[in-house]
Amino acid sequence: MTIDKESLVKDLIDLVGEENIIFNDDQLKHYGLDPFNQTHKPFLVVKLSKISHFKRLNFILRRYKIESITPRGCGFGINLGAYSEDLIIDLTLLNQKIELDTQTLTVKVEAGVRYTKLQKILNENGYRLPIEPILDGTIGGFIATGGYGYGSYQFGSLMNLLRSTSIVLSNGQIIQSGNINTPPYSCGYNLNSLICGSEGYFGIITDAVLEITPIALESHNLLLKIPADVDLMPILSKLAIISTIHHISLYKGLIDTTQDSTNLLIRLEGPPEILEQDKSFIEAMPDITFSKYEMANKLWDNRILEPSHTPKASIIIEAIVPISTLSQFLKFWKIYNSPTFFGTLINPSSALLYTFFPPEIPNVETVMETFVEKSHKFQMHPPTIGHLIKKFVEQFHPNLEYLKRLKPIFDKIHRLKVRKLQF
Ligand SMILES: Cc1cc2nc3c(=O)[nH]c(=O)nc-3n(C[C@H](O)[C@H](O)[C@H](O)COP(=O)(O)OP(=O)(O)OC[C@H]3O[C@@H](n4cnc5c(N)ncnc54)[C@H](O)[C@@H]3O)c2cc1C
Repeated sequence: MTIDKESLVKDLIDLVGEENIIFNDDQLKHYGLDPFNQTHKPFLVVKLSKISHFKRLNFILRRYKIESITPRGCGFGINLGAYSEDLIIDLTLLNQKIELDTQTLTVKVEAGVRYTKLQKILNENGYRLPIEPILDGTIGGFIATGGYGYGSYQFGSLMNLLRSTSIVLSNGQIIQSGNINTPPYSCGYNLNSLICGSEGYFGIITDAVLEITPIALESHNLLLKIPADVDLMPILSKLAIISTIHHISLYKGLIDTTQDSTNLLIRLEGPPEILEQDKSFIEAMPDITFSKYEMANKLWDNRILEPSHTPKASIIIEAIVPISTLSQFLKFWKIYNSPTFFGTLINPSSALLYTFFPPEIPNVETVMETFVEKSHKFQMHPPTIGHLIKKFVEQFHPNLEYLKRLKPIFDKIHRLKVRKLQF
């Protein structure tokens, strides 16, 4: 059935104004260009800036029998979850509300708020979100992609800080997952774990309540260099006994491009006397050399990146890799024009690793196939269901079937579905 796009555009302009609709072909093509220069031409793009917009939008889209929609933040997500031929709901204008509650140590924030805006307001009041994204995307996108980042070594995923979200379901109903007054680790029914990391499959996050902490009073940044022939596992296991580690990130081929060594950026936070002890312990570890403190501090101060700061790549693969196979994993891929690597340790025993395959690699498909094929060998798995490689997700997400069965419950009226699970 063809959709009367002209009338639909008129109705949407009536709802949000002409400046908040993209319907011109060239603009749509530009909007649909992903980080790997592939084009995904959306049907239309509508930017919403108020909660009241959602209800009316739902009526409009049902009237025109729009089958499927895709929520989008800044479009930085590796798995291209925000790119499709659907109608795109752009949430970057839903960015006004930031409500700090110093009594409950929580912050309520609208989904379209970009991370650095939230960080600035929190820091000005002496607080912070203890888990930070790598790229300055939206809070909604960070939650929808599972929310690992700086500070995950100490705090895990954003799921551990997520009190509640408000979600727009396919029938326009707005529900709340979790509970504002209940810490995330409390037992009982909590839909947060369904929303966090599911890339918007079950509904659109409009706002969230997250736990915050006071800014750390004392800290140290250390930048370590580990020669290529030294196994990372014993070093990372030894570091696991250190209580003041807030964050560890890994760089290969990004900082020291002349050598094949691996760099670790370690952030220590805690009482001064323990910090000194732990710093001396790390500095006494064998097989490691240290860069100047200034360099470590500079790297930490510039940790939140713009996409233009990330390495050019024909494909980026994101996987959670246990530290036991990390060195093998890094060595294995050298044959593919020595990709570069960036990762964050999401706990003492596993890393969320991004492998950047250089633009000139011969055949992306072969890399993908090899990646799936070797996944057992490295015991790695994808962090979200939106992962690029279908086979990879099917192989590593045994609950996919249940998620598929759960989805219709969220899509009660089968009219307006947040992107179908295409497996
Ligand atoms: C080099 C590099 C390193 C990265 N490291 C990390 C990392 O360590 N940890 C990490 O979490 N991410 C990482 N990312 C991925 C990316 O930065 C994050 O996923 C980012 O937080 C996404 O935010 P965004 O606003 O750009 O989301 P988008 O890309 O716009 O969306 C991401 C996904 O979430 C869905 N979505 C977006 N907004 C909503 C909403 N309001 N409601 C429901 N669904 C929604 C989209 O449909 C899409 O599936 C990395 C990316 C790069 C390039």
